[in-house]
Amino acid sequence: MKIGVLCLQGAFIEHINILNNLGIETFEIRQKKDIQKHFDGIILPGGESTTMGKLLKELDIFDMLVEKIKNNIPVFGTCAGLLLLAKKIDNDHRTHLATLDIIAKRNAYGRQLGSFNTLADFNNKQIPMTFIRAPYVQEVGEGVEILSIVDGKIVAVRQNNQLATAFHPELTNCYDVHNYFIDMVKNNMKHI
Ligand code: GLN
Repeated sequence: MKIGVLCLQGAFIEHINILNNLGIETFEIRQKKDIQKHFDGIILPGGESTTMGKLLKELDIFDMLVEKIKNNIPVFGTCAGLLLLAKKIDNDHRTHLATLDIIAKRNAYGRQLGSFNTLADFNNKQIPMTFIRAPYVQEVGEGVEILSIVDGKIVAVRQNNQLATAFHPELTNCYDVHNYFIDMVKNNMKHI
């Protein structure tokens, strides 16, 4: 199994380290020729969604990435990665890949509460969660499963092979969300 990590900007190293600790081969996606190669899953890290969205277009990675996601490659977006996937962003006129049927709210916790740590359930198991100028999910479409709710706000969702968290599991030493994603990739590999 080989997982590609989008390495244009933001917290990508932390994802690579966790995957490597779990014995998973990783692959850095930095330019067009990288997205054209074969890999079994892809991670879109946290960072700044507008900058990442712009770079995806400038580097001509955007269209092929959308195509891969539409063709059902498992994808995991954290924080800005969730915003890249969202079909609509309530407080931003931009959208990016727009493959995940959610309406997200950007920088949703305001300035004071922009960053915080908490413990909450992910897929029915309590895990540590780190939020940094995080979005949350305001609305989900049909077929979107809610995996975490914190203070009444949806912060983790899954739609088929797309997984997204408003928090940063790569900034904690709990590997549960990565393991959940690795299982998605494994299951998908069985079907192709
Ligand atoms: N606030 C960032 C954005 O809107 C996301 C923050 C993050 O990824 N930690 O893109």
